[in-house]
Amino acid sequence: MNTIQMVDLKGQYLKIKEEVDNAVDEVFNSTAFINGPKVISFQKNLESYLGVKHVIPCANGTDALQIAMMGLGLKPGDEVITADFTFAATVEVIALLGLTPVLVDVDPINFNIDLEAIVKAITPKTKAIVPVHLFGLCANMEAIMEIAKNHKLYVIEDNAQAIGANYKFSDGRIAKAGTIGDLGCTSFFPSKNLGCYGDGGAIFTNNDELAYTLRGIVNHGMYERYHHDVVGVNSRLDSVQAAILDIKLKHLDNYNKARRNSAREYTKALKHHPNLIVPSGKDECEGICDTCDCHVFHQYTLRIIDGDRNGLVKHLNEKGIPCGVYYPIPLHKQKAYTDDRYNEEDFRVTNQLCEEVISLPMHTELTNEMITYIADAVKEFLDN
Ligand SMILES: *Cc1c(COP(=O)(O)O)cnc(C)c1O
Repeated sequence: MNTIQMVDLKGQYLKIKEEVDNAVDEVFNSTAFINGPKVISFQKNLESYLGVKHVIPCANGTDALQIAMMGLGLKPGDEVITADFTFAATVEVIALLGLTPVLVDVDPINFNIDLEAIVKAITPKTKAIVPVHLFGLCANMEAIMEIAKNHKLYVIEDNAQAIGANYKFSDGRIAKAGTIGDLGCTSFFPSKNLGCYGDGGAIFTNNDELAYTLRGIVNHGMYERYHHDVVGVNSRLDSVQAAILDIKLKHLDNYNKARRNSAREYTKALKHHPNLIVPSGKDECEGICDTCDCHVFHQYTLRIIDGDRNGLVKHLNEKGIPCGVYYPIPLHKQKAYTDDRYNEEDFRVTNQLCEEVISLPMHTELTNEMITYIADAVKEFLDN
């Protein structure tokens, strides 16, 4: 058995090496490093994959979130509601723009933003909701869009962890994660489900006017060369990354399928253990049935109930199994983001999850042998 890695970028690269090397060579020979044809090609291909009118490529996922908020014209003092249990980038850009982050609790079953908590947090200053499709599973967008409509709020989806995931509406309609809100943002950080070989990101929207605004913002606020109509930023996806992404996009559904297959194996091995709660999707399928693409397993995250989570991390590491704790500290307890108005009782779930969660190795190159070894090591520790 090969060494087990949290993410196996090398193994994945070797399988598409020739394709990728040729595409990168083409960019080197064309020297169209910025805004070249590869960027346009990737943009168009991603638009058609997602079924969205506009993809605006940019430099990384954090920029995508920032640019989205700039594009909506949010102003200092405006409140933006987001999840307490997520990566800091989401709350970081809200604060950076002088907006007021309002962190709310998440759901204990699917780890996504809690609907009642959103409603409770809305004030006359609230302007937007940023649901994060955590670990590869879409938040309850149907309900979130309804809340947003009733309160006239924008919705920006943080889709950094769920590209390619499907969201099913109650009427059976299916849309890709990130294409449902006013804007969707994603990251092409190497370990994401669609990762490049450096930094990259993109914003999605079906709104022509917003798309126009955003294309100017990513390019110094220019709509006509050297005419700066709005304050912008310099945030570009470079041609080398776009060339790699264009190749990898063709494999994305297979990559996500491989992740789902691994998740299914983990769940088969672990679901009956009394100290474990396995990840759960929308319905009984747990997001991993053969017909449902609702979970793309950016992470495979367990909850350890009445067990020593930190001891388990140590045990796995000793057996050569890397693992992660995403996330160990709730955002509302981070020094940069604490706020007197927060009340610990409103964060019961996030506080608990930060003590209980552990993410097992998850990538496209896992073998069943590895999964059995990992699952056995988890059970061995919990049974002792
Ligand atoms: C990775 C990630 C981001 C940030 O993306 P970068 O490309 O690293 O800037 C934002 N939000 C979430 C939920 C993420 O997982």
